[in-house]
Amino acid sequence: MKLSFRSQIIEEADVRAVLETLRSDYLTTGPKVAEFETAFADFVRARHAVAVANGTAALHAAMFALGLGPGDEVIVPAITFAATANAVVYQGAMPVFADVTDEALLLDPDDVRRRLTPRTRAIVAVDFAGQACDYDALAAIAQQHNLSLVADACHAIGGSYKGRPVGSLARLNTFSFHPVKNMTTGEGGMVTTDNAELAQKMKVFRNHGITTDHHQREANHAWSYEMVSLGYNYRMTDFQCALGLTQLQRLPEWIEQRQARACLYDQFLAECESARPLAMDSQVEHAFHLYVIKLALDRLDVDRDMIYSEIRQQGIGVNVHYIPVYLHPFYRERFGLKPGLCPAAEAAFAQIMSLPIHPNLSDGEVEQIVATLMRILERHQTA
Ligand SMILES: *Cc1c(COP(=O)(O)O)cnc(C)c1O
Repeated sequence: MKLSFRSQIIEEADVRAVLETLRSDYLTTGPKVAEFETAFADFVRARHAVAVANGTAALHAAMFALGLGPGDEVIVPAITFAATANAVVYQGAMPVFADVTDEALLLDPDDVRRRLTPRTRAIVAVDFAGQACDYDALAAIAQQHNLSLVADACHAIGGSYKGRPVGSLARLNTFSFHPVKNMTTGEGGMVTTDNAELAQKMKVFRNHGITTDHHQREANHAWSYEMVSLGYNYRMTDFQCALGLTQLQRLPEWIEQRQARACLYDQFLAECESARPLAMDSQVEHAFHLYVIKLALDRLDVDRDMIYSEIRQQGIGVNVHYIPVYLHPFYRERFGLKPGLCPAAEAAFAQIMSLPIHPNLSDGEVEQIVATLMRILERHQTA
């Protein structure tokens, strides 16, 4: 068996759109960028969207737009990809790790309250696996304490919370179009917001902190420009945006297919006593970037890593998302963080495993994956 963890979908329409743009006048900073931004903003029902080079740049742009810097603290969940916390560090601010809920591994609003200090300026919620966080609870905390709420929605494009699309739930919402994500542009990212001033700041930020781009200057027959802040080259190319436009059209169908695979996993796993999926909130439309199970280690004679490697040996591309970020050597050394900081995250980390989920996976393959998993778990059952 050879079942890969992920597989991007590139169709004829995608290839045609990219080729057409490659043959046009603009490879970057051209019309496709604005076209993709408008389509994306419409899709998530936000007023503004700013395209950037990748999801990490999107997070960095968000932290910049909020004016975060040394002395500021930003609350981030313990379970996420390192980039969520790194973006805080890029701005010289301090990431403060908060614990996640046991059952869904989403930022725990009660623990967020416990980690607030007079220096807290923002909260970054991560829609882990594709499930939106409890935005009503988090927004209430943000409002009460005058903080900005940011959504790292890199897993959750195509999902929604109480009928509101992901991308419209926080002050700033960030996305990634890396090939592992629900839609791809190779590399790419986006930030959405209803705030025009923040959107403008991020447009300048992605272009070195310069207020005009070279096409605008050419149109005005002007050479001069002003750099008003320290920005970066975080632009997305026109051919990437062309790909984003065609991918976005297919996204709703792909989300449905991901949901159908998840539903099938749920059914097969219902009989399994040694593994169960993460909890799902019925008010959330889950985008299923990941399908994460928790192993009942008290019923097994081995740890997660052993189960993982035995499944890998069968050719099934399982994965682990994620090690609590503060356990990485960089965070331990730079901020003096130690095990014990977020007990729920650490306990979950020992148990979690991500099974392959993508639209290319057939029903039969889902069944095979679960059968293989259950066979291995049975062999290690103690009870
Ligand atoms: C993928 C991802 C990122 C980073 O996106 P890139 O496009 O790879 O830079 C950030 N946060 C989360 C939760 C992600 O999954």
